[in-house]
Amino acid sequence: MTSSYWLAAERPRVDVRPLDGRADVAVVGGGVTGCACARVLAASGLRVRLHEARQIASGASGRNGGFALRGGAPAYEAARAQLGRDQARALWQLTERYLDRLAELAGDAFRRTGSLRLAANAGERAELEAEYEALREDGFAAEWRDELPEPLAGRYHGATFHPPDGSLQPARWVRRLAGLAAAAGAELREGQRIESLDELEADQVVIATDGYTHGLVPELDAVVLPTRGQVVVTAPLERRLFPCPHYARHGFDYWQQTPDGRLVAGGFRDKALDEEQTAEETTTPLIQEHLEHLVRELTGAEPRIEHRWAGIFGTTKDRMPLVGPVPGRDGVWVSAGYSGHGNIMGLACGELVAQAILGEPAPEFEFFDPGRAIGSSLNANG
Ligand SMILES: Cc1cc2nc3c(=O)[nH]c(=O)nc-3n(C[C@H](O)[C@H](O)[C@H](O)COP(=O)(O)OP(=O)(O)OC[C@H]3O[C@@H](n4cnc5c(N)ncnc54)[C@H](O)[C@@H]3O)c2cc1C
Repeated sequence: MTSSYWLAAERPRVDVRPLDGRADVAVVGGGVTGCACARVLAASGLRVRLHEARQIASGASGRNGGFALRGGAPAYEAARAQLGRDQARALWQLTERYLDRLAELAGDAFRRTGSLRLAANAGERAELEAEYEALREDGFAAEWRDELPEPLAGRYHGATFHPPDGSLQPARWVRRLAGLAAAAGAELREGQRIESLDELEADQVVIATDGYTHGLVPELDAVVLPTRGQVVVTAPLERRLFPCPHYARHGFDYWQQTPDGRLVAGGFRDKALDEEQTAEETTTPLIQEHLEHLVRELTGAEPRIEHRWAGIFGTTKDRMPLVGPVPGRDGVWVSAGYSGHGNIMGLACGELVAQAILGEPAPEFEFFDPGRAIGSSLNANG
């Protein structure tokens, strides 16, 4: 069926107290970003109201691959070339701290397993080697693996193991985070789609809609492009084949095995890049066939597919998120555009925006200035 396996898990009860009247901050979007931001703001005593069109975690946060990885969308050596060595190192360190924060907050929704990046061919192996060298040079833990176990042996050309990473049940995690935000005093309003910012009775607004950013702030829609990802989940396998999240072909293929033995596999967006540049949350036969083929290859069997679904994430031109004030719009902030890498970055950036609103911006906040993509000359009604 086309529904997320993660979202099918039982929802915890969250006690929500409505706020009377105007909020200090309205947050639009109830994924990891919005919930992380709302929690920090409410814990600091601000009156926070979060508006979610569907349910908490019903966007990418409850539809993703469940990989909790350090870093950003580009690999480390590419990030060093793009951002400069100091900024790349600071960004990777930030995400390692947020993996620790996740471990503190997520309870049994997070398992610290490490992750394995695989080389699908000699060219990708050279890239992995360059990333491995760059990580080690800058003091990050990484382990090179030439010997790969079945069923990877002979199929992949080496791998890097990333010890700080882990595996998430992302919907359980974000529902839990929403519970923490509500416990801190944030009002969570589910089933309320915001059609215009004018509806919001708040002094400040945070747009936390990632790939679902459509219609509210046109200049954001122009720079955060909706991108579709598709996933399948099998019935529990008899054997435990994969102790941690695995990914190959620059993250175009990824899979992990859940504690009860199911294989979760996603990717193959590169087989139809133009078609997958869409906000339509539907699966397609072409990508699903590729995913089923991967499942057969990895398991040597034909396990039943019990769930299949699509989700939308937001991609930016430089594959770095836009986090900060929206140029030309007083009191409007954004945190979006993680380019498929938002489980940890979303947690980090949701908190970075909250800290900036509280007047205590962290040094890393300036890495993600939305002005680099939107330009500062737009007027307030842009
Ligand atoms: C298939 C897939 C696999 C992925 N795999 C990984 C992975 O393994 N690891 C990783 O780090 N990242 C992964 N990602 C990316 C990651 O899931 C996202 O970057 C992250 O969840 C973004 O969180 P968010 O809270 O910013 O946005 P979302 O979780 O998308 O939340 C945005 C919310 O805003 C709501 N909304 C939108 N418009 C409105 C409106 N007008 N009014 C009210 N509410 C509104 C939506 O309903 C939605 O719930 C994947 C994404 C997909 C789709």
